[in-house]
Amino acid sequence: MTETDAGGRALEALRKVFGYESFRGEQQAVVDHVVSGGDAVVLMPTGGGKSLCYQIPALVRPGTGVVVSPLIALMQDQVDALRAAGVRAGFLNSTQDFDEQRLVEAQFQAGELDLLYLAPERLRLESTLNLLSRGRISLFAIDEAHCVAQWGHDFRPDYLALSVLGERWPDVPRMALTATATRATHEEITRRLGLGSARHFVAGFDRPNIQYRIVPKAEPKKQLLAFLREEHPGDAGIVYCLSRNSVERTAEFLTANGIDAVPYHAGLDARTRAAHQARFLREEGLVVVATIAFGMGIDKPDVRFVAHLDLPKSVEGYYQETGRAGRDGLPSTAWMTYGLNDVVQLRKMILSGEGDEAFRRRAQAHLDAMLALCETVRCRREQLLAYFGQEASEEHCGNCDTCLAPPETWDATVAAQKVLSTVVRLERERRQKFGATQITDILLGKRTAKVIQFDHDQLSVFGIGEDLAEGEWRGVIRQLLAQGLLSVEGEYGTLVLTAGSAAVLRGERQVPMRKEPKKAPSARGERKA
Ligand code: ADP
Ligand code: ZN
Repeated sequence: MTETDAGGRALEALRKVFGYESFRGEQQAVVDHVVSGGDAVVLMPTGGGKSLCYQIPALVRPGTGVVVSPLIALMQDQVDALRAAGVRAGFLNSTQDFDEQRLVEAQFQAGELDLLYLAPERLRLESTLNLLSRGRISLFAIDEAHCVAQWGHDFRPDYLALSVLGERWPDVPRMALTATATRATHEEITRRLGLGSARHFVAGFDRPNIQYRIVPKAEPKKQLLAFLREEHPGDAGIVYCLSRNSVERTAEFLTANGIDAVPYHAGLDARTRAAHQARFLREEGLVVVATIAFGMGIDKPDVRFVAHLDLPKSVEGYYQETGRAGRDGLPSTAWMTYGLNDVVQLRKMILSGEGDEAFRRRAQAHLDAMLALCETVRCRREQLLAYFGQEASEEHCGNCDTCLAPPETWDATVAAQKVLSTVVRLERERRQKFGATQITDILLGKRTAKVIQFDHDQLSVFGIGEDLAEGEWRGVIRQLLAQGLLSVEGEYGTLVLTAGSAAVLRGERQVPMRKEPKKAPSARGERKA
């Protein structure tokens, strides 16, 4: 087969099988490289068109393309869609009975499959490896390859065993594909999958049709409802919440307010989940309220918005989740509410979670980058792309909240000193630690039961913060946490000083902050979330 032959057959497959006129972005380069037998690491944003990068070479090269995917729930759909297009595709996973598996195995051995989808855990079985040795393989495609990254947010131990593919089939081209693009993840994929000599294809990560907005959290469910009613009535979208409980309550709240919404989380039984997912894919205006269990690999082009009611744990997570909006290229919104409790919650989760010290430091660094994105006064898109090592095409994207309405900043040095001195007083004079609510009550001079109980109205800092409203103080504390000038400790999320606090207290460090909306609703609204 000559190069032009192969190129012609690739284009023919694109047109005849998939019905597309031309390749997009890096697809052509990836396809050419793999068709001619090369290994590839493909980094492309969600919706960028990764599937064709391996499906077309699998059709052009002799043998079966073996696709490793963790998305068992989607395999049936993917294979059905391929079959409908006339591609001979099959899958092997734990949802099939014995006879179904035997049939697919026989088809593979007889050379009757263009594509075979496998769950990663299958490749830990010697029987699967033996089966693969009995057929002819055109390529291995390892989808969602960031799952091999141990520090990543989707780590799956089964992925580590995939290095066996290169060892047993050194002559078969291998591709790793992912939408996660940080340098660290990229390097880890290359190293762990033995792709040292692979060519790397990195697509642009900018999603210009997505409008990024991050707003202060006051009464999140009501804010969400207003956002949906004003900007996305009748649109399909995803609302992400951190806990199953808040998923349930948010879905109920939306339904009660006339919005067609269903919950999705790992605590629902498999049948309900599958039904809700199927409705989302088929119907036009359904809202799915979900934990991050929902969405990986879901291919619905007309998702018009992705809303976050809670802070994602990392910028990678945020990018992937928001990337599910607007795959069709039409205007879409990535909207998020974010507040002090998010920071405290996530810090606490990291501190009390599993993993060793290095793991926690890593998780903390991920969270810090996410917080920096939330608090930035720069263009959000610019900051997001910079995180992935890319430059924005324009400094001012004009399609994010900070570009559309540049946030005001103020010199919050004195306010920061007031908060920090309160924490110091409690620690030094009383050997006590308290959370944000008590600190705020002290600053505002509120004689709450808890203030009286601990004699905090006797502190010299009692009432020194009457110049700001409660919501503003919570904003100051949140930004101090985000800037690393204050930290959180223990199961109650008590506030403690950091290495950076002293310079602020001594007046050696200025603390610029984003301005909070003056009439920030009470903290109670936030706690109800
Ligand atoms: P990813 O896996 O990178 O998230 P997909 O492979 O699911 O993306 O592709 C996203 C969408 O773009 C799909 O609906 C797919 O059919 C479409 N698509 C991919 N490549 C092309 C192309 N060359 N021309 C038109 N549409 C394409
Ligand atoms: Zn911008």
